Amino acid sequence: MKKIMISLGLFITLIAVVMMTSFRGSAESPNFMREALPKQDGFASVGNGTTGGANATEQNVFKVTNKKEFVSALKNRKNTTPKIVLVYGTIDFDTDDNGKPLTMKDYMVDGYDFQQYLETHKPQSTAVKSLKDEQEAKRKASQKNQSKSITVHVPSNTSIIGMDNAKLKGVNLVLDSDNVIIRNIQFESPYDYFPSWDPNDGLEGNWNSQYDSISIKGGTHIWIDHSSFQDGPETVEKYFGRKYEHRDGLVDITNEADYITISYSTFENHNKTMLIGSSDSKISDEGKLHVTLHHNYFHDVVQRLPRVRFGQVHVYNNYFASDTTNGEYAYAYALGVGKKSQIYAENNVADIVGKDYTSFVKVFGGKQLTTVNNMFNGQIIDTFNDTLTPVDWKPELFNKIDPVNEVKENVLHNAGPNKIYR
Ligand code: CA
Ligand code: CA
Repeated sequence: MKKIMISLGLFITLIAVVMMTSFRGSAESPNFMREALPKQDGFASVGNGTTGGANATEQNVFKVTNKKEFVSALKNRKNTTPKIVLVYGTIDFDTDDNGKPLTMKDYMVDGYDFQQYLETHKPQSTAVKSLKDEQEAKRKASQKNQSKSITVHVPSNTSIIGMDNAKLKGVNLVLDSDNVIIRNIQFESPYDYFPSWDPNDGLEGNWNSQYDSISIKGGTHIWIDHSSFQDGPETVEKYFGRKYEHRDGLVDITNEADYITISYSTFENHNKTMLIGSSDSKISDEGKLHVTLHHNYFHDVVQRLPRVRFGQVHVYNNYFASDTTNGEYAYAYALGVGKKSQIYAENNVADIVGKDYTSFVKVFGGKQLTTVNNMFNGQIIDTFNDTLTPVDWKPELFNKIDPVNEVKENVLHNAGPNKIYR
């Protein structure tokens, strides 16, 4: 009897091993892990195109399941070596090397006291300057501790590929390299525990945070595809009458970044979604910041979809939707026309409850915009703002542009993770 039990046990184990092996066999080498950006697919196809780690040798394919493995797969690798990082499951970056969660207390330096920070920074505060400066220095030092924990630089010639509902939670990926592919990943935006008060931001001042999910800072030939970006749950606090804003961008593109394609991705439940060009004074961005956005889903996001300075940005076949007219994620505007921006928007669709078509465009000192065949709340609208004149360029790098009546269905069906071959 005992012998039969053992054989049965062995048999079941054997079956399980065979099943796991075949499952892993298919899951570990998905075709898309070695895919390069298709030819002509937006600005990232300029020159030699974007291949990421497509040609990595087997020993440069890394399977990672935690922060330590993720960081070490990317760290100390030569920029010239193609590498593929396959991400399995959820990785939380507010953790230490042993996976222990890190919270505000863990990052705080001695002597940082938020109540004192508020007291010394509030409008018309009578606090002595040295106390104010001390609290600001300690806030900064605390923020630096968190930054060290969650910021990861991505080297050149890398593909980061999500497997099995891969999620990167609270990471700030910095792309200052060339030739990077990011596909099939869910991003939960980083939560800055130490926002700073800027009394000169806007009419009433603002709380600002440090981190984006992805900061393309000078990076070139970047393809972000079939990924999702959104905030995690949070309680809204206000100080000095303004929202204590813990999050910055989802994907921000700055510092002379160039040749970028973002496709079939979803952007949801967030405020400052995508900034292209960080400042009017950063004139070195002129002639750079070429970005293509197509088949993305912008859902319940407030602003910067995207907001552009200097760049030539081709925005086509995206779907913008919002059904909330109030609350934290109420839509404000889609395209921000900033200094010397050159947005060419065609065949996009927007369904925005409670808003007029003019809300699709907001002018921040820019003078040019081309819009062709865009639909807002069921109407084709092609003049969003009379003061703008057409841009000086015409997009040439794209494949099929869908007719406007197919955009919503195509985007809802195909944008986001786990849909690459749907
Ligand atoms: Ca940012
Ligand atoms: Ca909604």
